[in-house]
Amino acid sequence: MVTPSELGLPAVRRATTRDPARPDDARLIDTFGRVATDLRISLTDRCNLRCSYCMPAEGLDWMPRDEQLTDEELLRLIGIAVRDLGIEELRFTGGEPMLRKGLEGLVSASAALEPRPDISLTTNGIGLARRAESLAAAGVNRLNVSMDTLRPERFATITRRDRLSDVLDGLAAARAAGLGPVKINTVLLRGLNDDEACDLLRFAVEGGYELRFIEQMPLDAQHGWERTEMVTAGEILEKLQAEFTLTPDSVARGGAPAERWIVDGGPAAVGVIASVTRPFCGACDRTRLTADGQVRSCLFARTETDLRAMLRGGCSDAEIAGSWRDAMWGKLAGHGIDDPGFLQPDRPMSAIGG
Ligand code: SAM
Ligand code: SF4
Repeated sequence: MVTPSELGLPAVRRATTRDPARPDDARLIDTFGRVATDLRISLTDRCNLRCSYCMPAEGLDWMPRDEQLTDEELLRLIGIAVRDLGIEELRFTGGEPMLRKGLEGLVSASAALEPRPDISLTTNGIGLARRAESLAAAGVNRLNVSMDTLRPERFATITRRDRLSDVLDGLAAARAAGLGPVKINTVLLRGLNDDEACDLLRFAVEGGYELRFIEQMPLDAQHGWERTEMVTAGEILEKLQAEFTLTPDSVARGGAPAERWIVDGGPAAVGVIASVTRPFCGACDRTRLTADGQVRSCLFARTETDLRAMLRGGCSDAEIAGSWRDAMWGKLAGHGIDDPGFLQPDRPMSAIGG
């Protein structure tokens, strides 16, 4: 097992002091003029797959249950985010969010908030075939399913579990439950699945899914990422253009991380999230909450704001909202992957929420 000391413990700020320069604005604004309206919530750091670019084969030292926010604590924070801080979109993720007991209940309580937030889920798809309908009924609007290959043996190599058929069944069930457009998230890995870009796009186009390629980021627990090894957006597009005609999507991108292309004249589209080679930090509209109640202003942030301590310490909603605003006010201009002094965050992607 990887120990917490090997991973490093997150730098936790227990209290924030308000910067007098922060304007009196209820929203989550920062010094660069960005406004966070999209809240990513990690429901658990646990997972039932072991994707090689995410975590080691033996898994990680999972977060003790008592450190995790209870449903009641989590719903209180979601309520503050939606009612007081202008959050419009919620995405539940993890780890694997479907491993969180009571997920449907969390979704339906979130869907009952006013104004009603848009609710989405990022999942590895294991067990989705059984739950797609109940998730849709609870109020999930959209769904992203991660799938890096169409070949069972490769799936078993990449995720260290032989479960491709579960994911394929989950995708079909999500589409049948009306959770469209169902998006497929794919990470291409050099020498493992980078010859499948066109096959995956064809599968998505024929199945009515929207494929999005994500550049591999330095967020793995093992710290094994190497810039020279990652498959870049440029390479991905070159591969796709050998078989498809891609036309840049004319719809404004806004805060969306994916650059979109219309495939063979449409209506199908493909997205590429080039977090490393074409960062979109200037348009970022995200704020993040970990399963243990820490706010992060960025996936790559090196500081966190401890809202769980505030919840358990008896703070009011207004005090918690104020600390959340302070946390976002301090958001850095960019992730700095290309800066000479870049340091990977202490928490891996699976514990931050991707
Ligand atoms: N377990 C769920 C899943 O796999 O969809 C949700 C959490 S996972 C961390 C969210 C997304 O992050 C997945 O699409 C996954 O492929 C992606 N991801 C994980 N590690 C990554 C990395 N190092 N670089 C880029 N994407 C990564
Ligand atoms: Fe689990 Fe998602 Fe990480 Fe894969 S990418 S190990 S499914 S958290």
